[in-house]
Amino acid sequence: MVDQAKIKKLFREIISSIGENPDRDGLLKTPERLAVLYEELFSGLKQNPDEVLNQSFDEPKNSDMVGIVGIPFYSICEHHFLPFWGNVDVAYIPTNKIAGISKVVKVVEILSKRPQLQERLGTQIANCISNTLSPAGVGVRVEAEHMCMSMRGIKKPGTKVVTFNKFGLINEQESAQLEFYEILREK
Ligand SMILES: [Zn+2]
Repeated sequence: MVDQAKIKKLFREIISSIGENPDRDGLLKTPERLAVLYEELFSGLKQNPDEVLNQSFDEPKNSDMVGIVGIPFYSICEHHFLPFWGNVDVAYIPTNKIAGISKVVKVVEILSKRPQLQERLGTQIANCISNTLSPAGVGVRVEAEHMCMSMRGIKKPGTKVVTFNKFGLINEQESAQLEFYEILREK
């Protein structure tokens, strides 16, 4: 739970600090809106993604790679508190557990609704799948555009940042790697 009363109070001070009048019509309710917004944007902080994936199915002897591609996400960059957004592709080689597709989507949702870094988002998704499903391999690709690069600093809108996390066979075995890249082409 975020402390909405405190956010409301402090955001009013931020508005004053930038030289604006927090009592003018358009800004009067903004601190309250921000408090409600932060509750939603950071709702992932109070949820444990491992618990979601732990409700997975037992599926013995299925070792074909499973891919879930193009999962959209919106997150907040922890360095600038500006949005970054894009999509996540996940692939894993099951040993004896597979995850419901909606559960994987939920994991992406939980881990992106936090102050986050793109690199860490990918690592945390891959770790969550590793910890809960014990797969023979995991691959995660995250592609995102960062508002902190588009509207400030180097100002290059449209630039995409792509990160990969590969564990187990998807990292070590060439045929598994090729299959992973094949799955990414399905988008
Ligand atoms: Zn940033």
